[in-house]
Amino acid sequence: MRSYLEQTVPHPAWIEIDLVQFKKNIRSVRSRIGNSLFCLCVKADGYGHGICEIGVAAEEAGVDYLCVACLKEGVELRLKGVSLPILVLGAIHEDQIESLIAWDLEFTLSSKYKAELVLDVCARLGKTCRVHLEVDTGMRRTGVRMETAQQLLPWMLSQDGLVVVGVYSHFATADAPNHSFAQHQIFEFQKLRERFADKKLIWHLANSGGVVFYPDSYFDMVRPGLLCYGYFPDGREDPLGEIAPCFSLKAKVSYFKVVEEDMGISYGHSYKTTQKTRVVTVPIGYGDGYRRAFSNKGIVLIRGKKYRISGVVCMDQFMVDIGMDEVYIGDEVTLIGKQGLERISLEEAALIADTVPYEILCSLNGRLSRIYT
Ligand SMILES: *Cc1c(COP(=O)(O)O)cnc(C)c1O
Repeated sequence: MRSYLEQTVPHPAWIEIDLVQFKKNIRSVRSRIGNSLFCLCVKADGYGHGICEIGVAAEEAGVDYLCVACLKEGVELRLKGVSLPILVLGAIHEDQIESLIAWDLEFTLSSKYKAELVLDVCARLGKTCRVHLEVDTGMRRTGVRMETAQQLLPWMLSQDGLVVVGVYSHFATADAPNHSFAQHQIFEFQKLRERFADKKLIWHLANSGGVVFYPDSYFDMVRPGLLCYGYFPDGREDPLGEIAPCFSLKAKVSYFKVVEEDMGISYGHSYKTTQKTRVVTVPIGYGDGYRRAFSNKGIVLIRGKKYRISGVVCMDQFMVDIGMDEVYIGDEVTLIGKQGLERISLEEAALIADTVPYEILCSLNGRLSRIYT
């Protein structure tokens, strides 16, 4: 549906994805991780970049694995013809087991209870399934305790219905270097791995923070997301100058008017003009996932110049007081990304909205068009 609309119906607000830069990011991450396998994290619609387009591009760029949050995302990729191994990270539900097997998805087990449910389904269907055991080394979200893992893993390895592919854990504090808790998690994970050194398993721990700051966390595979889309976890630029954002958010000016002095703009009149001025309207709002938190604070670029949003962001549009500047209907507005010599970074936008870059990316929804270059 989305791609049909995008090919046939022009829309004045859109996300641009530079797949050439994306593939450059993938190659650059690859060059940093030594011999570890490369599992790209594409959950939440590929961090808002489009799960299928990103999945296909990642396969072309030579990643080894994809990981997703849930069954639905895995099926989307399979429907698009992606044949890479796909790991579902989130806890599975009983009614999803058959589909996980049917769609050839690897999935996560974090308890004996779920493992037994899975074995029942495997026995009934006469099939095996490919699973990873998740161990909690400190995130405390899902995953079995270390002590439990020592019992559960041998038991899982002895079950005919289960092909145990790997063991993994997730960082809680790897977004900056030299964090003692991240080092503690690496140490615990390593300890468990040594106990099972004779088994052929893929051990994986590193997210983007792990890849950038903790080379000791690479083990047999890494699972970065954010970094591959061009963002360092602590907001810095790539010292090697290779990894860069491949995402921009843009719209076209839809309306122009002149407003007298001391006039309120948008719902509640939280912005008032201080002089007779020019105001333009931009056709994107919180109905597209462009957050209401940008009201009176968000920055946009028009004709290479930065302006602040005037008044509250509505569901489908917002206004900008441009003073006495010249702007025309149809002019391109950049909300995130570069225009001329100026740039509005994702990190800057996230800071303004009092959130993290991840949330800005995956809040933007399917009403926006997506254009791949
Ligand atoms: C989201 C997620 C990742 C990727 O995290 P980034 O910070 O985007 O690199 C890796 N592993 C798990 C379990 C995740 O939930």
